[in-house]
Amino acid sequence: MGRDFVYVILGGGVAAGYAALEFVRRGVGRGELCIISEESVPPYERPALSKGYLLPEAPARLPTFYTCVGANDEQLPPIWYKEHGIDLVLGTRVKSANVQLKQLTTTTGETITYKILIIATGARALKLENFGISESDAENVCYLWNLTDANRLVGLMQEYRGGNAVVIGGGYIGMECAAALATNRMKVAMVFPDAYCMSRLFTPKIADFYESYYKSKGVIFFKRNALASFDNDLKGKVKAVILKDGTHLPADLVVVGIGIRPNTNLFEDQLQLEKGGIKVNGQMQSSDPSVYAVGDVAAFPVKQFGNEIRRLEHVDAARKTAKHAVAAIMARDAGDLDYLPFIYSRVFTLSWQFYGDNVGRVVHYGDFSSGNFGAYWIDKGVVVGAFLEGGNKGDNEAIAKVVRLKATVNDIAELQRAGLEFALCK
Ligand code: FAD
Ligand code: NDP
Repeated sequence: MGRDFVYVILGGGVAAGYAALEFVRRGVGRGELCIISEESVPPYERPALSKGYLLPEAPARLPTFYTCVGANDEQLPPIWYKEHGIDLVLGTRVKSANVQLKQLTTTTGETITYKILIIATGARALKLENFGISESDAENVCYLWNLTDANRLVGLMQEYRGGNAVVIGGGYIGMECAAALATNRMKVAMVFPDAYCMSRLFTPKIADFYESYYKSKGVIFFKRNALASFDNDLKGKVKAVILKDGTHLPADLVVVGIGIRPNTNLFEDQLQLEKGGIKVNGQMQSSDPSVYAVGDVAAFPVKQFGNEIRRLEHVDAARKTAKHAVAAIMARDAGDLDYLPFIYSRVFTLSWQFYGDNVGRVVHYGDFSSGNFGAYWIDKGVVVGAFLEGGNKGDNEAIAKVVRLKATVNDIAELQRAGLEFALCK
């Protein structure tokens, strides 16, 4: 049995939702587009899972965060796909792909052929097993990547309200989940190997602000440390986490966020890879002209960084690469994507934004004790990155602009003194 489409999107996450909307806006015909997703619901804004979804009061639930509400655009509920003649094949995993034959095969044995394929398979969470730790599948150990994971975490928070939570990993998932757990009145311990949290992006000074804030909310940090093993009860449930230095942390629930790997496996022998992702050009087209890749799985040339190939694991990149791929496919006059990397997070009542690249010399500014601060990264005399905590819309647009313009910095001391004003005056 088989079906044939002009366009197939493999994966039904953030990028797929934004690509679908762009296809419709550019006039895709009924029956021409198919989306195949392992998930059982249409594309939704994945960032909601570690924020609104985990709130103790009035938590976010579908349909409120179907794509594309995250970009203040149209919300696409299941009926939208039907109304536009898009085949949404949910709860279905593609087990093999043949790029030469332009054919995908699902685990149910169905074959789906395409003229143009967009790979939007995203990434998967690394498991503790990858680091030689067993019992990672115990009923009170959670990862957070999809709705099933989020529902499990919500259930455990309700079951163990006021109990002990251990968060393994001090990156994005670790920080956002620790904040959610503390907001749910759990006693939270965070464990990670580095000297400070969010070391892929933060400077020690920026990290110190957030760690102090978390401590004020009762979170305890075990830094330069790692999980060695679990202590389980007779039913296999984790009772305590044992760290490399011998510390025993009581645990009613454990949340693990120790990084991700892009889902390239179906294409590894068939398409060119780089930076762990599927290498594409500025139109998101892979080494096979009929195949495009977008979102977390794509490694693309970032014009802003002199066309250096990067793989970005953030929602804004997923949205924009997806829209650009569809523009390139449908209009053929899209040119190369000119993308300014953007990351954000919201925890407790805090909110930060970052644009560009965190390389070169860092200039911090503002008042770190009151939470009114930011930083610029200066490389070869120009601003290449900017971070701001608590900015309003205009402030955030201003820091984005100085990075986009690569504003020249003649005097570091003056930049430090001017702080946000430097960006607002440009
Ligand atoms: P995904 O959204 O991961 O979608 C991939 C899809 O492909 C999934 O539906 C998956 O089931 C499907 N799939 C994979 N393989 C197959 C297969 N073989 N067959 C069928 N289907 C398949 N980024 C930010 O910038 N800010 C945030 O605040 C933020 N918060 C986040 C919070 C959480 C909890 C998580 C997990 C991520 C967060 N991110 C955030 C990252 C952001 O969500 C991702 O960058 C984004 O989802 C990537 O979109 P994507 O479409 O490439 O992949
Ligand atoms: P990250 O790469 O952000 O962080 C991984 C963390 O795990 C680091 O602190 C790392 O420490 C730590 N770690 C690695 N190995 C171990 C170990 N064996 N024991 C304990 N800690 C360990 O990955 P996340 O899982 O946090 O996030 C996954 C993805 O989700 C990210 O790529 C991110 O882009 C996305 N995401 C983005 C959000 C946002 O943009 N706001 C929010 C949520 C998710 P060290 O650095 O010391 O190695």
